[in-house]
Amino acid sequence: MARSKVSIIGGGPAGSVAALTLNKLGHEVTIYERSRFPRYRIGESLLPGTMSILSRLGLQEKIEAQNYIKKPSATFLWGQGQAPWTFSFAAPKVTPWVYGHAIQVKREEFDKLLLDEVKSRGITVIEQANVTEVDVSRTDGVSLTALRNGETLHHESDFVIDAGGAGGPLARQLGVRRYDEFYKNFAIWSYFNLSDPFSGDLKGTTYSITFEDGWVWMIPIKDDLYSVGIVVDRDKAAEVRKLGAEEFYRTTLAKCAGATKLLAGTEMVDEVRIVQDWSYEAERFSAERYFLCGDAACFTDPLFSQGVHLASQSAVCAAAAIDRITQAEDEQEEVHAWYNRTYRAAYEEYHEFLASFYTYASFTEPNSEFWRKRRITESDDERLSRRKWFEKLVDNGQEGTGSTVPNFRDRAATMISIGRHQRATLSDEFSEAELNAARVRWISDLTNRLNSITRLRWTGTKALLKPHYRVAPQTFRLEQREILSNQDGLDMAQYPMDEQTLQVFQELVEEEFGYRALIKRLRSAGRHEISSQLVLRLMEAGLLTGYDKNGDQVVVESRLHFGGVGVEYEV
Ligand SMILES: Cc1cc2nc3c(=O)[nH]c(=O)nc-3n(C[C@H](O)[C@H](O)[C@H](O)COP(=O)(O)OP(=O)(O)OC[C@H]3O[C@@H](n4cnc5c(N)ncnc54)[C@H](O)[C@@H]3O)c2cc1C
Repeated sequence: MARSKVSIIGGGPAGSVAALTLNKLGHEVTIYERSRFPRYRIGESLLPGTMSILSRLGLQEKIEAQNYIKKPSATFLWGQGQAPWTFSFAAPKVTPWVYGHAIQVKREEFDKLLLDEVKSRGITVIEQANVTEVDVSRTDGVSLTALRNGETLHHESDFVIDAGGAGGPLARQLGVRRYDEFYKNFAIWSYFNLSDPFSGDLKGTTYSITFEDGWVWMIPIKDDLYSVGIVVDRDKAAEVRKLGAEEFYRTTLAKCAGATKLLAGTEMVDEVRIVQDWSYEAERFSAERYFLCGDAACFTDPLFSQGVHLASQSAVCAAAAIDRITQAEDEQEEVHAWYNRTYRAAYEEYHEFLASFYTYASFTEPNSEFWRKRRITESDDERLSRRKWFEKLVDNGQEGTGSTVPNFRDRAATMISIGRHQRATLSDEFSEAELNAARVRWISDLTNRLNSITRLRWTGTKALLKPHYRVAPQTFRLEQREILSNQDGLDMAQYPMDEQTLQVFQELVEEEFGYRALIKRLRSAGRHEISSQLVLRLMEAGLLTGYDKNGDQVVVESRLHFGGVGVEYEV
């Protein structure tokens, strides 16, 4: 019987990144992969955070040698009659591992590059081995059964990672997956012989366009290969059955003027494919001796191209967690709690972000059935009502957080306005520099709002430090650090805290003071560079509330932010 410290199911991005990280941390790993690479996979547009992880795992040169198309941004024609806008990845390189761009890839090639790297580092990869059973009922280890060319293989390990994607066998076996009714969508896509139609600052961008029946993605993959997909309501499945996939794809695509204009004179060069299993999440992402990573744990609508990043991020976190439990077994429960919280928070961030954008567009498409159903308040997804932000939303912000539907939509609108182009249609003459004016306007509006806060109130009666983990960006070890919390456990995990900073918030509990006074004290405590971000994050976490000179609450809707993009990488 084969044995290794960790067994991994699946050799996609989650499996490969988990194996590379565990190997770096000195643990023995075996991957079981059902297919033989290269194998086809959708999900071609990556995020800068993935570049950062792979670079820190030593793959930078190999990735650069592939000359992948650089993706500097994502561009949206989002909502009827709206000017195009671009979400730029440009970011100050405050550390060597911050990336201001991502890449567009053919996934069969990219995933093979990762798995080849795994093999080249001496990690055992057993391909064409379909894992059929995983026994996690024992407390001392895990056994796994796989079928390979008619032969049954058995494997014993201390831990198992299910990185088997949507088909993740352990996730399915545990029966902990819940489907999300808000995104009752499916995707249908193919490829065209079109080389990147954009130049200048838009070269390499991922382009997404809404139309009456849903939205279209357009991604330059390689040379003259262009990926074009449509996301529509699941109800359209009947039409697919009637017309056939190809005819449905062609007729639906023809309804999207922005797409057909770019595709004029090109030919479809591949088959039409469909994916139906849409948004879902597992109730639990890890416990005892197992971890679910990537799509095995959760998946949501691909509008923001976050799948591979969530897969890589969760893989790094699971590897670091296993390493930590191995060193300190008594911390097992805390480490699992941290993994579940961290991965779920990253997933939820995207979920909320997506809901904002669907809701925003729904107001610009008044006569469309698809968009009416994508307005968050019309969703009949029971699980949404169990989420805190959604409860506030449907209560019309009664908790005083300002989370009403218009406010919710405004958060998306803020993001859009920062990237809005100064012309009605998309043009190559657009320049990244044009966005600066909007960014300056947004920052000064935010600063004005913060400066109007004359009184800040701490939620609760105590400011405390509590232990929390984080993955050290270079060693990938799980480290303990302290974060700010109140006596009820409400906390803010993004920034580590120290005694000096804690002292400032203890003073605030004793006597309320304004925003400027807080910034001054934070700077004296050595938090010069991140003082305003700290305040914003504490307000988002519900630990701080600000009031103006009239005693009215100051609602600071900072722009939506999310993992994998920008300087605040989670790992
Ligand atoms: C329509 C659509 C568009 C998308 N667009 C994007 C995008 O633009 N950008 C992006 O980042 N993401 C995108 N995604 C999401 C992305 O494809 C996934 O999030 C990503 O592939 C997840 O990686 P993973 O390693 O978890 O799973 P996968 O890539 O699915 O890998 C899982 C591996 O496990 C193997 N496996 C499964 N079951 C078993 C078993 N029983 N035994 C052994 N091996 C097994 C499979 O063969 C596979 O190789 C998109 C998804 C969809 C559906």
